[in-house]
Amino acid sequence: MIRRALQVGFSRGLLTRGLRTRSGGPFNDRDGKWAEFKKKLQVFWPGGSWEPFTDTSHLPPEHADVVIVGGGVIGWSVAYWLKRLEARKNALRVLVVEQDPTYSMASTGLSIGGIRQQFSLPQNIQLSLFSIEFLRNINEYLAVPDEPLLDIQFNPSGYLLLASEEKAAVMEHNVKIQRQEGAKVCLLSPKQLKDKFPWINTEGIALASYGLENEGWFDPWCLLQGLRRKALSMGVYHSHGKVVNLVSSVRSMMTSSGEQVDLKRIYEVHEEEPDTKDLEVDHDFFQKKVWPYLAQRIPAFNSLKVRSAWAGFYDYNTFDQNGIVGPHPLVSNMYFATGFSGHGLQHAPGVGRAVAEVLLNGNFNTIDLNPFSFNRFYRGKKVLENNII
Ligand SMILES: Cc1cc2nc3c(=O)[nH]c(=O)nc-3n(C[C@H](O)[C@H](O)[C@H](O)COP(=O)(O)OP(=O)(O)OC[C@H]3O[C@@H](n4cnc5c(N)ncnc54)[C@H](O)[C@@H]3O)c2cc1C
Repeated sequence: MIRRALQVGFSRGLLTRGLRTRSGGPFNDRDGKWAEFKKKLQVFWPGGSWEPFTDTSHLPPEHADVVIVGGGVIGWSVAYWLKRLEARKNALRVLVVEQDPTYSMASTGLSIGGIRQQFSLPQNIQLSLFSIEFLRNINEYLAVPDEPLLDIQFNPSGYLLLASEEKAAVMEHNVKIQRQEGAKVCLLSPKQLKDKFPWINTEGIALASYGLENEGWFDPWCLLQGLRRKALSMGVYHSHGKVVNLVSSVRSMMTSSGEQVDLKRIYEVHEEEPDTKDLEVDHDFFQKKVWPYLAQRIPAFNSLKVRSAWAGFYDYNTFDQNGIVGPHPLVSNMYFATGFSGHGLQHAPGVGRAVAEVLLNGNFNTIDLNPFSFNRFYRGKKVLENNII
């Protein structure tokens, strides 16, 4: 086990901080060749434990301008956009630290890959609109010379949302906002719904909304690997290791109101954390809680047979289920891009761009994601999205 400290600084930040990683082996397979080379050397220097060279190629660089903790779809999107938007080529040294290069438990690889325009917050709708443009033209963004083109396998298919009498007005309001933002969504009465989808039982439904374009699903793994491959080709560094600590070289900071805050430690708050090792599928939950509703709404599902199932973790923000994006309120060179619940995959292209803008320019330039800032937690101000799945 190797422990080393990385000095991390960024020009916008006032402080220089350290970040410790527990580093494992390299992503690329240099180990085998190196071991072979060492064996050959020992033929010439037998009998000693003297190491003529120390291979450090698997270690992260000593210094980085930006360190990204976690190489999921969000982390690699931020890395890609930082390189794409940097004012001068190779101006920034960007490092992505990932603890599990197999991504066995990461949300990205386990997600369904859905994209929709039917949100209620303008910011979420704008992120989806940008993402669909990104996905449709993915090779304009992510192609790498001499590498195969990406096939994101986008399957266009509108989301169908159903509302009872009680929620019909909310649905109407949401669709109004979606249309104002440029999304193509229609409202269906129960009769129109039955005409279009005769297999649905419309009992108890007062209104439905249906995405006419730019909705469907795609291959999450392809997006992740495409962003990663492109970012690496643009000079982003990566390291296999777990970030276990952040160290600050300053003892106090100023709040925006000029108050001095002494930094003793960064407190970790754990709220009803689920068991993060347990990815067993809860078949009972499906049988007892999901299936009855499915079969009631679509009678053909009465005879369904589950052929395969998997489980994954949502990075669920229990406060208001929306993403947290942008600077930490006190630690001036720490930024968030997390907590997207069930819509982080589809918003990754826009979120990565937004975080890169804030890092490079100090502002969101394209989509204003200020409402998603961390400050809302201590202000107690929820940013509620009506259409959380
Ligand atoms: C079943 C399921 C279905 C979903 N369906 C959809 C959908 O249809 N549409 C949609 O948009 N979204 C969907 N999502 C949500 C979406 O997958 C996530 O919001 C998104 O993938 C989050 O990306 P991420 O990069 O933040 O997280 P992750 O993909 O989890 O990546 C985070 C990475 O950080 C690494 N890491 C964590 N801690 C450390 C550390 N200390 N040091 C180093 N590395 C670390 C982890 O190993 C991991 O690889 C779904 C999720 C699930 C589970």
